[in-house]
Amino acid sequence: MEKVYDVLILGAGPAGLTAGLYAGRSGLSAGILEQGQDGGQIANTMAVENYPGQCLDGESGTSLAARMAAQAEQFGAARIQDTIQAAELQGQIKRLTGLQGEYLARAVIIATGASPRPIGCKNEAEFVGKGLSYCATCDGPLFRNRAVYVVGGGDAAVEEAVYLAKFAREVTVIHRRDRLRAAKSIQERAFQHPRIRFLWDTVVEAVDGDGVLSAMTVRNTKTGERRSIAASPADGLFGLFGYVGLLPNTALFQGVLNLENGYLVTDGRMKTNLPGVFAAGDVRAKSLRQVVTATADGAIAAVEAEKYLHG
Ligand code: NAP
Repeated sequence: MEKVYDVLILGAGPAGLTAGLYAGRSGLSAGILEQGQDGGQIANTMAVENYPGQCLDGESGTSLAARMAAQAEQFGAARIQDTIQAAELQGQIKRLTGLQGEYLARAVIIATGASPRPIGCKNEAEFVGKGLSYCATCDGPLFRNRAVYVVGGGDAAVEEAVYLAKFAREVTVIHRRDRLRAAKSIQERAFQHPRIRFLWDTVVEAVDGDGVLSAMTVRNTKTGERRSIAASPADGLFGLFGYVGLLPNTALFQGVLNLENGYLVTDGRMKTNLPGVFAAGDVRAKSLRQVVTATADGAIAAVEAEKYLHG
């Protein structure tokens, strides 16, 4: 007979791992499903500075996620590596179908997070991995002593620009307005950095190159003026990092769960519109997307799942 978990948690970012910890600690049989690496977006972040207590030297997003995963496992949460392709969430027994198998549970916590939004320029897909990236931690070191551009003006863009300046000869932040959205403390660090400069009121329209990224067309949003930016002949290429926000990973739930701008709608107890189905973390419609709010959501979702299961 197929195993029926008390609760299956979709996603092993901070929200999912915390839900696993709380579910395990309260004696539920819990499984955490993940298709890639643990940590979600913090796996691509060099430093997490604003999670309380996370101020140890040499700590990265990956090591924080690894400790969260170990803690969830210590309390009995099972780990399942699979890519879920279909979710039947309506009945009392929920069925998740993955590439490797089927998984059943009485309750489900969706913590699938969000993924980088494409910049939206011409030829973008062609140059991903050939100079264009959405992960400074992964690809920044490839651009040691080269020119690097970062698109966006939010926390992620500005924080990652500061990180990239450790390797790059110069970092240019390309932002569509003349003011950053990032938190003031993050902005200050970038403004004070001698190798970071800003290209205001500018968007990237197209990227180009012969096999690797070596040219792009940018447009001034105020004047409409277009110009080309080319790699220096000595470099032959430059790096372009897209940090223009996130797209929630909710494709599986469209038409089944209530969405708002693509994000899952829950109440304060993390309940979706279906009984026994909860959502936590960045995938949820909410005002503040941080590790601390994701972990809080995960804890609430697991406690509410336990209440749902035990009446
Ligand atoms: P974000 O806050 O949504 O910022 C996206 C940025 O990209 C904005 O500056 C936006 O410009 C720009 N943008 C959006 N679409 C664009 C387009 N098509 N072309 C050019 N620019 C475009 O996204 P994020 O920085 O990825 O952050 C996501 C969430 O994670 C936020 O809630 C953020 O606070 C959180 N986060 C927190 C930290 C931290 O606390 N240390 C670090 C990283 C992320 P406009 O400003 O003109 O809208």
